[in-house]
Amino acid sequence: MTIKTANLGFPRIGRHRELKFALERYWTGRASRDELLDTGAKLRAESWAAQKARGIDILPSNDFSFYDHVLDTAVLVGAIPPAYGWKGGPVDLDTYFAMARGSTGTPCASGCSHVGTDSGNPALEMTKWFDTNYHYMVPEFEPDQRFELTHNRPLETFLEAEALGYRTRPVLLGPVALLKLGKAKGDDFDPVDLIERLLPVYVRVLTELADAGADWVQIDEPCLALDLTDRDRRALDLAYRTFATEIPRLKIMLATYFGSIGDNTAAALALPVAGLHVDLVRAPQQIDALIQSAPADRVLSLGIVDGRNIWRSDLAGLFRRLQPLVSTHGRDRIELAPSCSLLHVPVDLDLERALDPELSSWLAFAVQKLDELSLLARAFEPGLANPEQVFSASIDAARARLTSLRIHDPLVSGRLKELTAADSKRHAPFDTRRRLQAERLSLPLFPTTTIGSFPQTSEVRQARSLHAKGELSYVDYVRYLRQETEQAVRWQEEIGIDVLVHGEFERNDMVQYFAEQLSGYAFTQSGWVQSYGSRYVRPPIIFGDVSRPYPMTVDWATFAQSLTQRPVKGMLTGPVTMLQWSFVRDDLPRSVVCRQIALALSDEVTDLEAAGIAIIQIDEPALREGLPLRLADRKAYLDWAVECFRLSAAGVDDATQIHTHMCYSEFNDIMPAIAAMDADVISIETSRSKMELLGAFTDEAYPNEIGPGVYDIHSPRVPSVEEMVHLVEKATDGLAPGQIWVNPDCGLKTRRWEETRPALVNMVAAARSLRQTFAAPAREAVGA
Ligand code: GLN
Ligand code: ZN
Repeated sequence: MTIKTANLGFPRIGRHRELKFALERYWTGRASRDELLDTGAKLRAESWAAQKARGIDILPSNDFSFYDHVLDTAVLVGAIPPAYGWKGGPVDLDTYFAMARGSTGTPCASGCSHVGTDSGNPALEMTKWFDTNYHYMVPEFEPDQRFELTHNRPLETFLEAEALGYRTRPVLLGPVALLKLGKAKGDDFDPVDLIERLLPVYVRVLTELADAGADWVQIDEPCLALDLTDRDRRALDLAYRTFATEIPRLKIMLATYFGSIGDNTAAALALPVAGLHVDLVRAPQQIDALIQSAPADRVLSLGIVDGRNIWRSDLAGLFRRLQPLVSTHGRDRIELAPSCSLLHVPVDLDLERALDPELSSWLAFAVQKLDELSLLARAFEPGLANPEQVFSASIDAARARLTSLRIHDPLVSGRLKELTAADSKRHAPFDTRRRLQAERLSLPLFPTTTIGSFPQTSEVRQARSLHAKGELSYVDYVRYLRQETEQAVRWQEEIGIDVLVHGEFERNDMVQYFAEQLSGYAFTQSGWVQSYGSRYVRPPIIFGDVSRPYPMTVDWATFAQSLTQRPVKGMLTGPVTMLQWSFVRDDLPRSVVCRQIALALSDEVTDLEAAGIAIIQIDEPALREGLPLRLADRKAYLDWAVECFRLSAAGVDDATQIHTHMCYSEFNDIMPAIAAMDADVISIETSRSKMELLGAFTDEAYPNEIGPGVYDIHSPRVPSVEEMVHLVEKATDGLAPGQIWVNPDCGLKTRRWEETRPALVNMVAAARSLRQTFAAPAREAVGA
């Protein structure tokens, strides 16, 4: 008997993004419901066929979703907030999409996961799926939440697969994960306490699956890789005991991923389930605990191929590492699998045309990862004389990558070695810098600014795409962008903004724009992965040492600055965000890659300064999402993340002002790290929480200057002067007026000029009115 291969989930988007196009056609009324459903069925059939063809023994079903699997699960169990008007029974597609998309919101400027909630029925909140760049819809639970089975879709797709001749292992998001991923509505209660009410629905779903002939199901409880409370553990215990008692014939593969189950190992192994899947990519050391303590009859699914990254596996190394476990546990009780669902990687490397053959030979996308599993399983076939021969191609590729000159740049590693603590420290402390900067910039009280981007109109996007297609010459493209920039600068001056921006019209994306100009980065043409719903991204690939051959933004910044006497901010994406939103090489620690990026950015920062730019903003919207899942790992991450930010900024004179921006404001648990970044000014998102989230910044926790966002850029609504005045007044509860800047929550790239113009005019009026209110008593005090 050979070892079985299993997959935990396949990308849903289709080889050619068919799902996106079908959804958009449906949403804009260009396709019927049936057409959309047909596309779904076709995509599922194709992915089963692809997985089968790659030799996978255990195929998942119910891993497909029209929008998001967490939303699907909430809908399955009838956790539908009353606002959506659901009256029981199956949930129709439009109610489903209303929960997913609400009405008229626009997503945040770049990467961040908010959408507007301005009118009609708001969408459910959206947030990051653990530490991935996939976003899920946050289910809402009321204290007296009732659950009921709406429609057994896992059963429906199981039968659909059966009809096509595939025996599948249906995937369900586990009941404890579902509750923990949701949020409590109303009274302060822990959704996990709803477990007893929720279980009967799961029991029904599972019973119907077992009745239909399913012998195994995969239940995902990724929360086992988090710090759990006793309550959580009791809920897990109750859930899996219930399933074992109620449906003893159904075997459960309990899947955990994204980290070590660590201190939950004993609890996980004690659950009465037939199988356990662990992530051996993120946490390879878990294998020892399993060898020692896994019950002999437990089927172990070993997540050994990286479901989160695109590098080819070291199959020979894996083969050697797995051998002891295979021989002690027995090959018939072992499955080989990706570390997690393949949702997080692009579908097929064979579709890729932009990468050169050398780089391609180092990579594996979803279907190539399945090939790797099959190869590895083949090497374990009994009686094979020379198992490693199976991997000769993989060994050659690994060797070639290891020694490729494209990866190693001695200048970069040399610079890194020479770094000292002084390199990540500004010369003078903030108080001194503040005085010098005030002299240089002479800004008013409550200075106004924006976060960087101005509307990326369809005209701007069209010019970019014409240029990319070669239909608009470089010269004409740049001429056009200069016009846009000039208009934006003149307009900001006219309405009286104090610190101007150039508008970022030349940027396709805040990460890609820089990555394209740095060495060590590559880009795919078809490497799409789902970010949320129908939004897919093509993360850049960091394959080699990163450096900056030429200045990246100096031309645009100096052009804009040449048009005005007011300061124009230089605008950069920070090292942690550059790292976080890319596929990162796996042969160096992330901290080292991040330091390389920080050094490249510091070159840009010093060039901007030398070119006369007095204020430089280094955006770090992804800093918080990089936080490790386990509390114990957070300090180490924050230490290097903060160090990298400082490294990118510290090369400037004390009189040069460094800004940073983050489009969220839950800083309570990371406040010391935010303060340690030592930016002269930070802008954050606070308007939607009505400044409440600003709490973390008061109490002397944050001595530097701060721009709490005064209006929500996710909504087309134009905020009134009074509203913004009121918000800033609220902010002065905890902050000194002299500390406060006035700016929107985030960049304005997704907005239209029709909304942006009046909103910013009002914002400037608000700042002027605040200056009057606050400056008068201050003058009196001086005169007295
Ligand atoms: N400077 C960027 C912009 O204004 C910041 C985007 C972001 O924070 N996500 O678009
Ligand atoms: Zn932002």
